[in-house]
Amino acid sequence: MRLSRFFLPILKEAPREADIASHRLMLRAGMLRQQSAGIYTLLPLGLRVLNKVCAIVREEQNRSGAIELLMPTIQSADLWRESGRYEDYGKEMLRIKDRHERDMLYGPTNEEMITEIFRAYVRSYKDLPLNLYHLQLKFRDEVRPRFGLMRGREFLMKDAYSFDIDQDSARHSYNKMFVAYLRTFARLGLKSIPMVADTGPIGGNLSHEFIILASTGESEVFCHKDYLDFPVPAADVNFDDVSGLQGIVDKWTSLYAATSEKHDAAAYAQVPADRQVSARGIEVGHIFYFGTKYSEPMKAIVAGPDGADRPVHMGSYGIGPTRLVAALIEAFHDDAGIKWPEQVAPFKVSILNLKQGDAATDGASESIYRELTAKGVDVLYDDLDQRPGSKFATADLIGVPYQVLVGPKGLAAGTLEVKKRADGSRENLSPAATVDLLSR
Ligand code: ATP
Ligand code: MG
Repeated sequence: MRLSRFFLPILKEAPREADIASHRLMLRAGMLRQQSAGIYTLLPLGLRVLNKVCAIVREEQNRSGAIELLMPTIQSADLWRESGRYEDYGKEMLRIKDRHERDMLYGPTNEEMITEIFRAYVRSYKDLPLNLYHLQLKFRDEVRPRFGLMRGREFLMKDAYSFDIDQDSARHSYNKMFVAYLRTFARLGLKSIPMVADTGPIGGNLSHEFIILASTGESEVFCHKDYLDFPVPAADVNFDDVSGLQGIVDKWTSLYAATSEKHDAAAYAQVPADRQVSARGIEVGHIFYFGTKYSEPMKAIVAGPDGADRPVHMGSYGIGPTRLVAALIEAFHDDAGIKWPEQVAPFKVSILNLKQGDAATDGASESIYRELTAKGVDVLYDDLDQRPGSKFATADLIGVPYQVLVGPKGLAAGTLEVKKRADGSRENLSPAATVDLLSR
């Protein structure tokens, strides 16, 4: 992508409305635009990151055996009357009427709708277990939308819903998501800690929140420090191995970890003092097992092996991809801007032509841009007619992992300078070695 043809509305000044680094940097780096309180447009740079986050979320959902579909954002109130949640949900739910005066709503979550889909098609234990998920916008009229994508009113969610014949099998479905979540956040470059959680309006009796430690997090959390060094299950983890998965979950729940709502000061006091972590955290995922809470009132009934009908056991599992984009910036930034981990970076490389209009730098920049692009590398080529200082500032701000500096001095010596955004390290390489390094 040539910067001259991209849409990257960088802001020079730090916007006053932003209180935390991720919100400020997303606005400055031309990733995000507020349309109303808590409602945002993702500008092209922001969307590129969100798409990468979603791709990793999808890969790990698919690996665990979940199947993707797409449900609508607008739901009928009648569905929610069946579960009893239409009245219960309160002001967070945006209620609307269509032209025929029918009560509709913009979905804050999809338990009712997925239960309706399930009961329309599935009758027998032979079709179980089943886990269906989607990535879809949600609307929750939060009392205090703030911190940009961190707490929006409209936001993207990955929500998965599992269906099982009984509690034991539902526990295995829960464990699959638990492990998939550990892998998802680790692949994004984040250390997540599963914490015992309240079930809130979703209801149920088994639930964990996945928390990223961050000073700007909205949750107050307490945990054992060893979690930060626990190894995450590898890609070849066998999701069908019931006791193997239970072992992983047991290990990841063996030490103390709770958010303030579930905090047990006496239990926490048992953690050795030098292992206690009392910090703030960001909730990036939340999983629930809630048994027959929806299947009973909504009559999602399946026949078991004995031929007898029974309500199906369900769980639901959320991840906030838009919140994750913000959480990633909270974890990876410095005073100059964002420092994206490579796997979620909007581009892998930016080429900075330090003397636009100069035959030598133009030629070298063009050729390295073409070579890297041909090798499938995501490259942003800063071909604007601007001073080097301003190009450096833009590159640091938007946080692309590798910067290739193409200047007349280096070229005279046959080299380009490659700067790593993560640690600021630099090396001089020939154009061929640069292509080699960056296309690995
Ligand atoms: P919170 O406690 O932060 O309000 P929640 O418990 O209401 O979240 P869930 O219903 O568990 O949220 O939603 C699943 C996931 O969706 C959360 O773990 C979070 O990552 C994301 N999420 C929830 N609310 C928001 C929001 N207002 N803005 C952005 N992401 C959100
Ligand atoms: Mg939650």
